[in-house]
Amino acid sequence: MTNPLIRPDIAALSAYHVPPSKGMVKLDAMENPYELPLTLRQELARVLAEVPINRYPDAGAAELKAVLRAAMKIPPASEGMEILLGNGSDEIIQIIALAVAKPGAVMLGLEPSFVMYRVAATYAGMRYVDVALNADFTLDLAATLAAIRTHRPAVTFIAYPNNPTGTLFDAAAVREIIAAAAPGLVVVDEAYFAFADASFLPELAQHRNLVVMRTVSKLGLAGIRLGFVCGSSYWIDEFDKLRMPYNINALTQTVATHLLRNPCALYDQAEALTLARGQLAAELARLPGVAVFPSAANFILFRVANATTVFDGLKQRGILVKNLSKAHALLNDCIRVTVSTPEENQQFLSALKACL
Ligand SMILES: *Cc1c(COP(=O)(O)O)cnc(C)c1O
Repeated sequence: MTNPLIRPDIAALSAYHVPPSKGMVKLDAMENPYELPLTLRQELARVLAEVPINRYPDAGAAELKAVLRAAMKIPPASEGMEILLGNGSDEIIQIIALAVAKPGAVMLGLEPSFVMYRVAATYAGMRYVDVALNADFTLDLAATLAAIRTHRPAVTFIAYPNNPTGTLFDAAAVREIIAAAAPGLVVVDEAYFAFADASFLPELAQHRNLVVMRTVSKLGLAGIRLGFVCGSSYWIDEFDKLRMPYNINALTQTVATHLLRNPCALYDQAEALTLARGQLAAELARLPGVAVFPSAANFILFRVANATTVFDGLKQRGILVKNLSKAHALLNDCIRVTVSTPEENQQFLSALKACL
């Protein structure tokens, strides 16, 4: 039954759906499959036992920010570069949209891309304009520049590497977009930085209209919900006004501070997954009727003759992947699989062979 008090654009949405995955090999959400080493988990138990959970968390999360700066080589505050933390980068996307959503303001996205950009535009009442990527999921630079000229977007989101395609866009083309979009903001979303050999963090000072967003979710800490955006205080100080007080809880701050002070264990796992990505992509490419797209992330996008048949066949065999067939016209018969441990990757490959 329709609720007449609800905004029609909200009533038209569906809630974010997470499919049941109990007992399945979960390869649908780009999670890191590895546990932390036992000694690290025991250390965590010790430090978490000392957290005063009767008190509100450190509102500015100063210690965590300092550790993040070191772990991620973020340009220093002395160069005017600030950090805003979010309850996952999803919260940051929403904060940015709310901040720039003046009446008539446009958000530009390069589709297919991360679904939360469009969702955040809807929440904020912004118009979302999408530019299609090329059929091989590279940037259509001419079309993107034309859309920027026509729509003058207040904000443009670029996932680098892109989800769900895995594409690492040409850096020179991204620079052209940043220049053309000015003074409009460009958000380079580096959720998959740990698996890609490229970043716009070192270029922050060169572009007044650029901010870079990252998350620890794909690095192995999806459960603690922590993302951040960094850039000039010109932007970050404004975004900070939209942040709910104490948005990063005390347990998250403690876990992240402890683990990122010595991030080797997590970066080693990311390196193993990057290596496994190459092997999995090569094995997929050998299968008849499978077309693999290049990936710089911890997942692989591939096309089959009938994605729904393959998705259902994998599910029957206990393997959960993402069927993207209906997500965008360019993704027809495309499936996305998260790179996992060698054992789970083999399980996935055997199951896939059985249902092709
Ligand atoms: C997974 C993902 C995010 C969301 O990260 P959270 O910090 O878990 O909210 C953001 N951007 C892209 C491109 C992603 O794939």
